[in-house]
Order: sequence, then structure tokens, then C-alpha cells
Amino acid sequence: MGRMFGTNGIRGVVNEEITIDLAVRLGKAIGEFFHDKVVIASDTRNSGSMIKSAVASGLMAVGVNVIDIGTVPTPAMQYYVASHDVDGGVMITASHNPPQFNGIKCVGPAGRELIKVSEEKIEEHYDVDVDCLAWNKVGTMTYDPSAAESYVNAVIKKVDAEAIRNANLTVILDCANGASYVTAPLLLSKLGVRVITLNAHPQGDFPGHPSEPTEENLKDIISLVRTADADLGIAHDGDADRTVFIDGEGNFISGDKSLSLMARYILSKEKGLVVTPVSSSSMVEEVVTASGGTVMYTQVGSPTVSKTMFEQRAVFGGEENGGMIFPEHVLCRDGAMTAAKMLECIAKNGPLSEQVGTLPKYYMEKRKIDCPNDIKGVLQEYLRSENMGMRTDTTDGLKIFHDDGWILVRPSGTEPKFRIFSESKYPEVAMERANETEIKAIEFVERVLTAKTL
Ligand code: MG
Repeated sequence: MGRMFGTNGIRGVVNEEITIDLAVRLGKAIGEFFHDKVVIASDTRNSGSMIKSAVASGLMAVGVNVIDIGTVPTPAMQYYVASHDVDGGVMITASHNPPQFNGIKCVGPAGRELIKVSEEKIEEHYDVDVDCLAWNKVGTMTYDPSAAESYVNAVIKKVDAEAIRNANLTVILDCANGASYVTAPLLLSKLGVRVITLNAHPQGDFPGHPSEPTEENLKDIISLVRTADADLGIAHDGDADRTVFIDGEGNFISGDKSLSLMARYILSKEKGLVVTPVSSSSMVEEVVTASGGTVMYTQVGSPTVSKTMFEQRAVFGGEENGGMIFPEHVLCRDGAMTAAKMLECIAKNGPLSEQVGTLPKYYMEKRKIDCPNDIKGVLQEYLRSENMGMRTDTTDGLKIFHDDGWILVRPSGTEPKFRIFSESKYPEVAMERANETEIKAIEFVERVLTAKTL
């Protein structure tokens, strides 16, 4: 068995890759790693109960006592683990993936995603297929329905709730039929916000829209913000660790912009380090530097960001996809904290559209080309040789710096693809460089493939 855990746990199609047999065996392996007491939760997918029960069975079979906290957002599970005396937690979720997918991800006692060596330990246990214990040594299962509300209450304590209440905001909230239905409407009403909900009932086939919070998937909330004359739109992905915003004019705000604004807001109160992956816009660095902070770049993936934040005692961190991490709460992407802090930022600093207008302008072009896994290395090497003499960075893939921007080429960790990001202060330059690199890469892959068949 090779490596099972990807950048965000184990994911796949239910009853094809993610089977109950796998889930039971993995449950035993996770139990062998955590030993004593483990929290388990799921999002709203149809297969959630099935996979959760199987993992829980495996955990109990090796003597672990399981606490089932029901359907909650991933960060609510992480907060529960961090605030209780337990060894770890297991989340059954495939985040923003289509409904036929599900996944299993583990967090340690502080609620943070497991580091690679810990995942490898679990994979080793999986490979040997841990024995079940004698009948009188098996674990128990208890239920605790309080996780959603205690998470919401904890978030409210971390923001200026009075300022938010006094701002009399109207918000359109889109839960994407996902796990935030148990937390986000409650959070907003407790914060005194007038809230109109969309897709706020749990339904595992996601009838509202696909659960990735992209501009294309959020047409309904965008038009409702406009017609209802709301102050803000808030949209979560399926497991509500990510939050994206629509300003009062009905403009979709990209994750780079909300991340930059939040970094500026956090730094206005406390100077320090802001952690973000190398794929984030230079807008973040420019704003952070101007606000008296420092940026530290990491590889792509939120576990790396939160691990680096922990090690470096960062004041804030996040990704360009709406994932933000607040160390004063839990070191994980935290959908409810992101929503509440943004409300506070708007209550204190004015409408989101005006705040976005003060950000520096950058333009990003993204491309994805087909590239067999065994060619990824030579392709990156080729692109490096094509850019000799340029300033480069290899934190994740290859980043090539230009005066007005950069190009990042990186192999996808999950599929036979190669990604190209091109950013510039000038939209036509970003486009030109993206096209140029894309053509070069495609031609190189073709040449290598042709040479192989000869
Ligand atoms: Mg997610």
C-alpha cells in the first residue's frame, strides 16, 4: 500500500475508493495511533453516516472510546478536540468535492491537522491490519450534540460582538447545503445580524450548487445581495472551513483580496508574521509589508500553513481560496472565525467594496496542462533551464520572479496535471506569460512522449 493521505486527508468516490472495508481498517489504524479517546464528526454528504459508523467501529474494535459530535463544520470538530481532553479527531468530509466523494481526515489533540510522519504511522498500521481486541476490551461510543453551539459561542468571544451588533448589517448567507447549516445562521443571528439564508438545509446531493465557492457557483447569492440591497454576502464550502465574500455591490471578492484585507486588519492590532503559500498573490505581501508585518511563504496546503504558523508564532495566515487561520482560536482554516472577523472589520472600517478599492491591483492567470506523473520532474527542470539567470524560488514547484510579477509552475499532487500561475501588475503581461509558459510546457511534454514511443 502506497501513501494514502493527500494534502487534505484521504478522498475518493464512495463505495469505489472510499469503501466501508477501507474505513473499518483505517479506523483500527487510527485507533492504534491515538489509543484512548477520539472525536468523530461528518459533513452533510449522503454517505457520511455510513463512513463515520465504519471508522467508529474500527476505532472501538481496538479499544478506543469514541465521541460522536454529529454533523458539524470541520473547524467546529477541530475546536471541540482542542477544547476537550481527547487524543485526536476524525472528520468525514470531502470538503468542496462533488457529492459522490467522501473523505477521512485526522487531527491531533490541539485540533491541528496531523503532520506527515503521523500520517505515515497510521498508514503503517493500516498496512499490517491491526488485530481487534477481546470482547471485554472494546471501546464505547458516546454522543455530544453541543459541539456546534460551543464553537459558535467561542467564535463570538473572539470578536467585538457589540461593534457588529451596532452596525445593523444585513447579510445573505449561503451554506451550500453543507455543514455550516448548524453553525453559520446561529452565529450571525447571535451577532445581531439580519440574515437571509440560501441553501441552509442539509442535503448531501448539494441541489443548490456545487460546493466549491467559486464565482460561477455563487450566482444566486450574488444576485440576491444586489436585489436585497444587503451589506454583504457570505458563502461557505461544504465543510465550512472556507469562507468567501460578496461585497454590498454584488461583486465576488477573490480570496487574495479578502486575505489581504484581513491581514491588514489583524496587523492594525498586532504586528507580526503572516503565513501564506507561494501561490498567493503579491497583493498579500504588499499589504502586509505596508501594514508593518512580514510575510512567510510555505508550500501549498493548509496543514503546512498552520504548522508553520504554530512554529513561527504567526499572528495570521491563510490561502487564496478563502481559507483563513486565526491563532487566537484554533490553528486551522476556520470558516466561522473568518465570517465573524470580516463582519467586525466591516463594522469598524466601513463597507467591503470601499475597503477592496484601497488594495493594490494585481492580475492572475491560471492554467492547468496534462502531464504524466513521471514527466513532472523533467518538465520543471526544463522550465528552470529556460529561465536561467532569473531569480527563482523552489519552496513548492518553481517560482520565477519578474519586475512586475511572477510565474509559478507546480506539479499537481493529486492528478497527472501541471499548474501554471502567472501574476503581474499588468493584465496583458500576466496573460502573455501564462500563454508562453503553457505552450512551452505542452510542447515539451509532447516531445518527451514522442521520444518515449520511438
Ligand atoms: Mg473545505
